[in-house]
Amino acid sequence: MKYPPIQNFINGEFISAATNRHLPVISPVNGQLLSEVPLSGAAELEKAVTAATAAFHGWSKTPIKERVQVFFRYKTLLEKHMHELAALCSEENGKTHGESVAEIEKCIELTEFATSLPQLVTGEILEVSKGVECRTEHVPLGVVASIVPFNFPAMVPNWTIPNALALGNCMIIKPSEKVPLTLGRMALLLKEAGLPDGVFNIVNGDSEIVNAICDHPGIEAVSFVGSTKVAKLVYQRGTSQLKRVLALGGAKNHLIVLPDANTDMTAQNVVASMSGCAGQRCMAAGAMLAVGNVDAIIEKICLEARKVIPGKNLGAVISKEAKTRIEKYITEAETQGAKVLVDGRGVTVAGQEEGTFVGPTVIDFVKPEMAVAREEIFGPVISIIRTKTVDEALAIENASPYGNAAAVFTQHGGMARYIIEKASAGMVGVNVGVPVPREPFSFGGWNESKFGVGDITGKSSITFWTRLKKSTIKWNPEAGINWMS
Ligand code: NAD
Repeated sequence: MKYPPIQNFINGEFISAATNRHLPVISPVNGQLLSEVPLSGAAELEKAVTAATAAFHGWSKTPIKERVQVFFRYKTLLEKHMHELAALCSEENGKTHGESVAEIEKCIELTEFATSLPQLVTGEILEVSKGVECRTEHVPLGVVASIVPFNFPAMVPNWTIPNALALGNCMIIKPSEKVPLTLGRMALLLKEAGLPDGVFNIVNGDSEIVNAICDHPGIEAVSFVGSTKVAKLVYQRGTSQLKRVLALGGAKNHLIVLPDANTDMTAQNVVASMSGCAGQRCMAAGAMLAVGNVDAIIEKICLEARKVIPGKNLGAVISKEAKTRIEKYITEAETQGAKVLVDGRGVTVAGQEEGTFVGPTVIDFVKPEMAVAREEIFGPVISIIRTKTVDEALAIENASPYGNAAAVFTQHGGMARYIIEKASAGMVGVNVGVPVPREPFSFGGWNESKFGVGDITGKSSITFWTRLKKSTIKWNPEAGINWMS
C-alpha cells in the first residue's frame, strides 16, 4: 500500500474511524493499491457534528472580512502545492496531469470568488417609513454538509468549501470513497491557512454515512453532487428531515452541429468535450445531433479523436467495472446497427497494463431510442444521431430527462439564439463544447440534473448557504407614527 490508511479529519486532527468496514483505494492508472478508506458509521458523524457545532459560534461571529483572509492564504497554498495536489488527483482519479492542474486552477478561481464575498453580501437598507428602516443581512445556517463524487476529487469539493465557510458556516464533507486522498491533503492546507479547528471536517464512508448526514438533526443543509439516482435519494431523504438540500445529478449533454459550423473549431470542441477527463465530466458531450449534411465535420471529428491517445493525452476511467460498462454500451450500439467510426474498446497502455483505459470512441448512425443515445455513459464516447432539421434535433434534446448542458455549433447568430431559447438545459454553449460558467456566474443544470432551488456556485451560492435576517428599526420618537410605522 503506497500511502497510510485514510483517516477522518475532525476538529483539526486526523483520527482513525472506529469501524471494521474498509475499501481499497486503487489507482485507475496502473491498478496500484494506494490506500484503504474507512466506511464510517453514525458514531463518527456524531464526533464531526459535535466539533463543527462547537466551532460555529466563534466562526460565525468572526467578521466576514476576517474569515476570507483564510481563503486568501488558502489560494496561495493551492498555487504553491499545485503540482503535488495534481499528482495525487491523477493518481487516485486517473485523469492526466494537465487535467488535474486545470482542476486545481479551477479550485483557485473558486477560492478567489469566495474572497470577494464581503463585497457581495452587504445586505440592504432602506427608510421604509418616516424614521423607520428595514435592513437585511445574510446569516450563516450553522453546520452544513457536502457530499461529493469521484470525478473531480478537488474541484467539486471546492465548489462548496470556500463559499460555505466564508459565509460563516461549519462543514462536514463526505468525499467519494474512490478518491479520498486529495481532499485529505487539502484539509491540511486549510489548517495551514489558519482555519480554526472544527470549522471543516471530513468523514469518509459510503451510503451509510450519507444517510446518517441526511438524518442528523444537527445538520442544517446538505449539498450533493453525483449521479441522478443518488441525488434523488439524498434530496428526498434530506428534505423529509426538513433540511435545505441542493442535489446535482447526472447528465446526457447534446451538441447540435449545423452545416454552417466552422469545421476545425467544431471538431476540436466536440472531441475535447467528449474525451476530456476520459468523458467523466457531468458536462461531457454525450450525444451529437448532426443536422443535415455535416459529413466533413464528422470526418474531422474522427481525425481529431485519433489524436487522443490513452496514457498520453487521455486518462484512465475510474475502475475495471466502468471500463466494462462503457465497452458494453459501444458493443450494444454496434449490434443494434450503429457504426463505430473510431473504436476505443480493448485498449491497454504499455507499462500500465492494469490501468483501466478506454480509447476515444465515435459512433455514427445512432438512433435516439438506443441506450447509448439516452443514458449517461461516463466514458470517452460520442453518439452521433443524424437529423434532418434543427427542430428534430431540439425534440431529441428536449426529450432527455436530464438537462445539465447543451451546445450549438453554428456561425448563424439568430439560429444560436433560437437554440439557446429552446434547449431544455441549465447551461448552454454557442461554439463552446463544455459550457461551464466561470465565476461569478453560477453552475447548475435543470430537470433531473438538479433537485432543489438555485445553483451551487457563484452568486447563487449565497442564497443556498445563508438565510436572511430582516430587521425593522425605529429609534427616534420625533419621527412620529403613521399607519406604516
Ligand atoms: P455517485 O452518485 O455514485 O456517488 C456520489 C456520492 O454519493 C459519493 O460520495 C458516494 O459515496 C455517495 N453514494 C453512492 N451511492 C449512494 C447511495 N445509494 N446512497 C447514498 N449515497 C450514495 O456518483 P459518482 O459515480 O461518484 O460520480 C459520477 C456521477 O456524478 C455522474 O452521474 C456525474 O454526471 C455526476 N456529477 C454531476 C455533476 C453536476 O454538477 N451535475 C458534477 C459532477 C459529477
